[in-house]
Amino acid sequence: MTRYKADANYVRRLDGEDKLARFRKQFHIPKMKSGDDCIYLCGNSLGLQPRGVEAALKQELDDWKNLGVEGHFHAKHPWLPYHEPLAQLAAGVVGATPSEVVMMNGLTVNLHLMMVSFYRPTPERHKILIEGNCFPSDRYAVESQIRYHGFDPKTALLELKPREGEATLRMDDVETFIEKEGSGIALILIGGVHYYTGQFYDLARITKAGHKRGCVVGFDLAHAAGNVPLELHDWDVDFACWCSYKYLNSGPGAIAGCFVHERHAKSFGLPRFAGWWGHDKSVRFKMGPDFHPMEGADGWQLSNPPILSFAASRASLELFREAGMDRLREKSEKLTGFLEFLLKEMRVPGLQILTPSKPSERGCQLSLTMAEGGKRVFDVLTSTGIICDWREPDCIRVAPVPLYNSFADVFSFARIFGAAVGGSAKPKVAM
Ligand SMILES: *Cc1c(COP(=O)(O)O)cnc(C)c1O
Repeated sequence: MTRYKADANYVRRLDGEDKLARFRKQFHIPKMKSGDDCIYLCGNSLGLQPRGVEAALKQELDDWKNLGVEGHFHAKHPWLPYHEPLAQLAAGVVGATPSEVVMMNGLTVNLHLMMVSFYRPTPERHKILIEGNCFPSDRYAVESQIRYHGFDPKTALLELKPREGEATLRMDDVETFIEKEGSGIALILIGGVHYYTGQFYDLARITKAGHKRGCVVGFDLAHAAGNVPLELHDWDVDFACWCSYKYLNSGPGAIAGCFVHERHAKSFGLPRFAGWWGHDKSVRFKMGPDFHPMEGADGWQLSNPPILSFAASRASLELFREAGMDRLREKSEKLTGFLEFLLKEMRVPGLQILTPSKPSERGCQLSLTMAEGGKRVFDVLTSTGIICDWREPDCIRVAPVPLYNSFADVFSFARIFGAAVGGSAKPKVAM
């Protein structure tokens, strides 16, 4: 049932037929010392810079230079309502209505702000459920929230662990766990796509299972936003947070995103940490003493936002609108499927792909482990101009992203990987 072929003409044909191929030209591809393009497969860690970002930043610098404070109203993109078109663009990526989305702060900050409102533990129901081996920042954040409320993470933090000998979670097990433990769980907070294994969980199913047992359900979409199809509104997710510097290509430390479901748009009674930018904007500048939050996600804003970061984010998100998540996903499945095919074709002894093989259970990333010598292979890749990443203890993460990676990138990676593992593992394919 081979859909793919490991030959150079075939690869050229795939790239020739790729309707999104033109987007690669919209990005700066890092170069090797030789002047050739690197093979960049690290968009899961830091997305590349869209060419439009420089002009977008220059526009804001010029408007600041020429208009000073008047830029709030008279900049080409007035600063005061700048977050509104941005929220609209981001909403398209995560499957939300614009009023459910706000761009603000950093990811971990937003997780905390969301937990202030949505983690409301009681003695009977105070646990938080996370995925096992979760990203350290998320763990630090939830543990600190648990302690802040006077509970002990040793008993209040529950983790979903794969079965013995397996790398990823089975959704049936997740559902069963929630069914069983749900009455003690205040909050389910799971990374939509696992940063290490690349597993894309069934978020609709988790949400449904959680709600059935009375839990609040939120997601960390750091590795999901811009990578996999999301329908946060329709799935009825309570809240979600994501960063914009990974698949969303908005630059190092870029402004993060936050989703609050419409159901909570007018939940003014929820505890929340307040700031003037979350105050009713029609009277914000009356500078009154009483806080009246705006409806929707906007009501969680604290500070007036960093316009330079917004500008980069906007330039990047416009590319997502242009390309469309549907088309990106279609290419992504094909691109990652091709990578998987080539890796399997090589029959490297000891090579394991941790990421699920079903396209619906993963994004673009494949996580590879080797029985031995993984770090050495990774170092060879790096010295040959391949940029992917190494995650302790033993994982090489490879992420061909559909916006700027080509089938030729994937093919070159496989060829170099094959050479790096060496010996009997040489690719059996004509490259
Ligand atoms: C990348 C990532 C983070 C990083 O958090 P910041 O606050 O943006 O530094 C947090 N959680 C997950 C799951 C991540 O993948």
